[in-house]
Amino acid sequence: MQGPGDRGKDIYGAGDVRIENVPDSVIKHPTDALIRTTASCICGSDLHPYGSMKPEDRPARMGHEFIGIVEDTGTEVTTVKRGDPVVAPFAISDNTCAFCREGLHTSCAHPQANFWDGEPEEGGQAEAVRVPLADGTLVKLPVAPASSLIPSLLTLSDVLGTGYHAAVAGSVNERTRVTVIGDGAVGLMAVLSTKGLGAEQIILMGCHQERTDLGREFGATGIVAARGEEGIAAVRDLPGGHGTHVVIEAVGHLPAYDQALGVVRPGDVISRVAVPQYEKAPIGFGSLFRHNIRLAGGPAPARACIEELMPAILDGTIEPGKVFDANTNLDGVPAGYQDMADRKSLKVLVKP
Ligand SMILES: [Zn+2]
Repeated sequence: MQGPGDRGKDIYGAGDVRIENVPDSVIKHPTDALIRTTASCICGSDLHPYGSMKPEDRPARMGHEFIGIVEDTGTEVTTVKRGDPVVAPFAISDNTCAFCREGLHTSCAHPQANFWDGEPEEGGQAEAVRVPLADGTLVKLPVAPASSLIPSLLTLSDVLGTGYHAAVAGSVNERTRVTVIGDGAVGLMAVLSTKGLGAEQIILMGCHQERTDLGREFGATGIVAARGEEGIAAVRDLPGGHGTHVVIEAVGHLPAYDQALGVVRPGDVISRVAVPQYEKAPIGFGSLFRHNIRLAGGPAPARACIEELMPAILDGTIEPGKVFDANTNLDGVPAGYQDMADRKSLKVLVKP
């Protein structure tokens, strides 16, 4: 622990992210671990409060994707120890309850289970983090914090698991034709994951060429840059017609949902993994019901996927860390938010 306190990121309102000295994170419960953060990042979902948070709301600690070194552990922690490099997923879970055993760690029934947003005094865009339920939440990494694999391993905390969950929730397999809506990090991870599951055709809908180029590298077989009716028509005109079996919605805004409705094939599925910025959307006769369209997805149980997806990163089969196109330290985080909001950066890696 250093100086007058750890430095962390607070968001005060739309467009107002500040680095501040905050009280030192300390062990509070015997199941906690204290992590010295070595790699963190800014998430596309962080841009939602960045774009809309009201100044009268209390400042919020930011960041839910991080890798670090265990600095201290509570007396009941057994799976990690001081000095271990670890990755934390974006949800805190015990890894033992009925939902965790079913691989749905984001619905963990433990009273301390939470998303990082729900931990007002902690956040991953900081020098140190208190991790509740450390045995369930943290996964030890087999590489050092300086490893070149760290950017890819950092994607296990959220975006890779989220893209993979989108594909699995949509039941993607070798016979599936897929449309991925959104060329942000999650959309690109969905492309990578659907490719890994053998999808026959992967259409990426996105209009930023450097991103869709990476999408092609990850396995997209076609790119549609147009949006709305024009974009829908372009997908429906593709060989096979009638849209695609699975549509992964990786944006979170209503127009993307409407676009998904437009390109999903009758009898098939829309899988949503971006945090929806709407509560009301068409589900009636003229939208989902008429053609037996199913709606799947939700917050990805990233914790469930970490052990499953890590080997492919370690052996170089996949390189999801390519989504990071900018690096900064804590002081550069406010500019990192703005660059992501302006679409100048795809995803910003933060080394506190
Ligand atoms: Zn649980």
